[in-house]
Amino acid sequence: MALPPLIAILGRPNVGKSTLFNRLLGNREAIVEDRPGVTRDRHYGRGTHGRYHFRLVDTGGIVFRDDHPLGAAIQKQALFALEEADALIYTMDGIEGYNPIDQDVIDFVRASGKPAVFVVNKIDGVNAEARLMDFYQHGVSPLIGISAAHGRNINEVLTPFIPLMTEEAEETLDVPIRFTEEEGEDARKWIARRQLAPARVAIVGRPNVGKSTLVNRILGSERLVTSPIPGTTRDAIDTLVHWGEKDYHLIDTAGLRKRGKVAEASELYAQIRTEQAIINSEISIVLLSAEDGLTDGDLRIIREVIDKRRGLILAWNKWDLLKGGQTEGKAKGFAEIREKYPFLAFAPMSSCSGLTGLHIQKLFTQIDLVRKWYYERIPTAKLNAIIGPLMAMTPPPRLKNYPVRVFYTTQIQVAPSVFVMFANRPEGISMQYRQFISRKIRETYPFTGVPFSIRVQSKN
Ligand code: GDP
Ligand code: GDP
Repeated sequence: MALPPLIAILGRPNVGKSTLFNRLLGNREAIVEDRPGVTRDRHYGRGTHGRYHFRLVDTGGIVFRDDHPLGAAIQKQALFALEEADALIYTMDGIEGYNPIDQDVIDFVRASGKPAVFVVNKIDGVNAEARLMDFYQHGVSPLIGISAAHGRNINEVLTPFIPLMTEEAEETLDVPIRFTEEEGEDARKWIARRQLAPARVAIVGRPNVGKSTLVNRILGSERLVTSPIPGTTRDAIDTLVHWGEKDYHLIDTAGLRKRGKVAEASELYAQIRTEQAIINSEISIVLLSAEDGLTDGDLRIIREVIDKRRGLILAWNKWDLLKGGQTEGKAKGFAEIREKYPFLAFAPMSSCSGLTGLHIQKLFTQIDLVRKWYYERIPTAKLNAIIGPLMAMTPPPRLKNYPVRVFYTTQIQVAPSVFVMFANRPEGISMQYRQFISRKIRETYPFTGVPFSIRVQSKN
């Protein structure tokens, strides 16, 4: 199935690209900040226009770093977008008026031959329409006057691109893969395909644990920039990075939370974003502060990941701050979790520093490992070869004097992983018994970082 076309939003800083991006994706919360050049990197999103689907990239900050002379920066940004995008939206600032720098990009966009619209934003308030004259006089066309902030003329921006758009979204990557006996082969093919897509990794954690710093560090050492791939959901604002030999789809809440009063005003907002990021991920890295130790706030986020049954990695950040050598700090943070929270034993733990770049490679090694297990399906025969004899030796306790029998256990789902135990009296299988079986499964198949669950179903 073809991917929906990728439409790139180009423009100088502060013309309203992020606002337009959010608006086109139907996101009511425009998360913007008044400072120019604040968009840190490219943001990808997916949206619909009527029944048509498209993908959107806000090329915003890819080149607008402080050290770039503006003109050159725009050209670089335009070049990049031209390469990867199927269509272009060039955005200008109606309040500021026509800017000679715009002309270079306009020429450039035209020369590319890619479908493009030229948009003048901030056409709101008094005498708004008159502001368009300036642009018409410089021969910019086709020209659309919009107000991204107020949602004015937004549909006109997309309509010219309808011929490019697809009527169906690509295969969704968000559904778990279920196994039935008949569909086993299909499910295996699905897994193989899903694993080809970049791992979706959320970086979550309490405020100030260092999420932004870590993400920036990762993006800063990005060796190669690649095209977006399916998986970006409507609400998520994601980044694709290339690390080592692979692409990773980073879902980060940090950039968002940082970007304005709207977000900062509300803790609830941060929580919702965190939850959304976790749901959209395959693997969530919960960043902890080595300086603070484990807090209730950390545990709440960890529980959220486990509840959603996403892959979990615990990373002690700010490791560089620990005095007296790494072992002292390690003993404290790592041991605390291992001792006090045995239910977290399945999750790999590591130390890192977004500030110095320490152990970031290791984090990626762990992501790869957890992802492998996230998609691992143990065949029913192998599973029962391990737990069958165990159950015979240690059967569940009798229920009101009736024997409780487990016939067999099977893994019915990956991504996230779910096991089902078939028993004559499901109510007779206690939580403790399920935990006992989980531990035994993990002795042979560690399912590193994967919080699987065991359900019990009745069978006679
Ligand atoms: P970017 O740097 O191009 O991504 O621009 P932003 O989306 O961050 O917007 C820059 C500034 O312009 C912010 O202060 C926005 O509130 C403001 N802005 C964006 N769209 C509009 C609009 O349609 N009308 C007006 N009046 N202001 C807008
Ligand atoms: P976020 O709120 O989780 O995105 O946290 P930030 O990335 O904004 O970091 C919060 C503060 O911690 C900032 O002052 C950072 O400079 C600092 N910080 C972040 N990572 C590290 C680190 O690895 N080591 C040290 N020493 N400080 C860090």
